[in-house]
Amino acid sequence: MIRLLDPETIGQIAAGEVIERPLSVVKELVENALDADATRIAVRVRGGGLTEIEVADDGAGIAPQDLPLALRRHATSKIADAHGLAHVDTLGFRGEGLASIAAVAKVTVVSRTAGADPASAIDAHGEEIGEPRPLAGPPGTRVLVRDLFGNVPVRREYLRSPAAEFARIASWLATLSLAYPLVGFTLEHDGKAAFAFPAGDDLAPRLRHVFGSSSSAMVPVRGEARHAGVSGWVSSPGDDRPDRRNQILFVNGRLLRSTLVSGAWVAAYRTFAMVGRHPFGVLYLSVPPDEVDPNVHPTKSDVRLRHGDRVLSAVKDAIASSLRSGAAERLQRAISFAPPSRESTGAATAGIDWAEPLVPAAASDGDAERKTLRVLAQVDRTYILASDGDAVVLIDQHAAHERIVFEQLAANARAHAASEPLLVPYTFEVRPEEADRLEETLEALAAGGLHVEHFGERAYRVISTPARLVHAGRTRPFDVAHFVECLSDEVRGLDADQRVWASLACHSVVRAHEKLEYPEMTALVERLQRCENPMHCPHGRPTIVRLEADQIARLFKRV
Ligand code: ADP
Ligand code: MG
Repeated sequence: MIRLLDPETIGQIAAGEVIERPLSVVKELVENALDADATRIAVRVRGGGLTEIEVADDGAGIAPQDLPLALRRHATSKIADAHGLAHVDTLGFRGEGLASIAAVAKVTVVSRTAGADPASAIDAHGEEIGEPRPLAGPPGTRVLVRDLFGNVPVRREYLRSPAAEFARIASWLATLSLAYPLVGFTLEHDGKAAFAFPAGDDLAPRLRHVFGSSSSAMVPVRGEARHAGVSGWVSSPGDDRPDRRNQILFVNGRLLRSTLVSGAWVAAYRTFAMVGRHPFGVLYLSVPPDEVDPNVHPTKSDVRLRHGDRVLSAVKDAIASSLRSGAAERLQRAISFAPPSRESTGAATAGIDWAEPLVPAAASDGDAERKTLRVLAQVDRTYILASDGDAVVLIDQHAAHERIVFEQLAANARAHAASEPLLVPYTFEVRPEEADRLEETLEALAAGGLHVEHFGERAYRVISTPARLVHAGRTRPFDVAHFVECLSDEVRGLDADQRVWASLACHSVVRAHEKLEYPEMTALVERLQRCENPMHCPHGRPTIVRLEADQIARLFKRV
């Protein structure tokens, strides 16, 4: 039943200029169709939406006697009064959509409820609302909007070309469809189909349409917290974009233009994304309706959350844990390891002391298919060249080792791991301008297992080092100047401790242009495999580059 809202409720509604371009019309009509539980929504547009927009659905329909009311401002079936505003569970609730459209265009609504036959039609334009008349039509609702802004020509001056206006519609509708897999959507412009997404569980065609071909590598997200359920699909690490435009957020099915959770994206990806690059994906939050207030924005493109902080951290945790579990799997796909041969294990202890015994990659029975990643050579004394038979794999030895040590330091700190006193403490001097910066890092270094203490005027000494970590064969003097300099590098998403560890890692590991023996390379590659995020160094640069057989074929112009 559609009711006229009382003046008190109307007064509490954050109203605004709703219809500013063709997309606004499509939004209102499609939202109405979704609120009516449609399972199929067909959008047809002509002339970028200025000539004609038609949205047809197979939803609940509007009873004939309700039709004139549907077109009145502040008449809605979705809330009854101001109390209803406190727990809105529909997309619309202000009763303004159809009226605002009719104010700037010629509108015809044809609708048929389940019991009725035939359908009823009504016309509205400006302030005038006609009388319902019987008309043949299928169950559901079809709204036809013509001559948009015909009576407000100045509004047309703010519009772009028909193609550009249509592009906005197409992009919005495809994006929206990501939250309604059980609804089929079709879109047409000037008689040509733009897309047709059938109803069903398969989100893949929609993800591909919105995010492009890399969508197939997206990582599923799922998380549950007290104040929010989180799910979605996010880009796999390393597959990022120069802007945040593709960070799509739905709260209770409402597509938001919100920066509500952009902090969560940054925090979750930490070292997974390169500086200045942004992950992408779509997140769905479900929160109890009474904990989200959609009545804060004229176009309903933002909301206020009662427990914003908790929701934010739920989002962060959900993304981060999917990325972590995804990382292992991705690497498994990228590089699969055979158990290390006797020779490599034995020799590794002779070369670099990688400290931990090399545990063979878990090779389950019947996994005979698993490909061996064979280290072939060192290239330019900087990269490890390997192959698994399908692809050529290049590993940046420094970046890879940095990742290993960085994660080890973090693990030490988490486990409060013991460190090993040095028999002969290693003493070094700093320049006055370095002393302060170094002082600031001492605590974080100690947490990671490296204890450094002040030792006379400008001298410091390293008294213990992480027990299971670093060096042995590859220890090098602690290069303070470089360490401190590297600390000032801004690393997006790293906290203060992590910055110190990243810097320490950077200065305690194998460098570029350093010769590695075969067993050292094998051990390095094996250790990398066991990292949480093997694909990137702590600064976000890639550690592994893979050249697939089909890419090689292209290089040779075979395909
Ligand atoms: P609101 O969506 O905020 O309620 P609208 O002006 O968009 O306001 O719609 C007014 C009313 O018309 C709705 O509350 C609903 O009852 C009815 N209505 C509009 N579009 C449809 C539709 N496609 N299917 C069924 N009912 C509709
Ligand atoms: Mg509406």
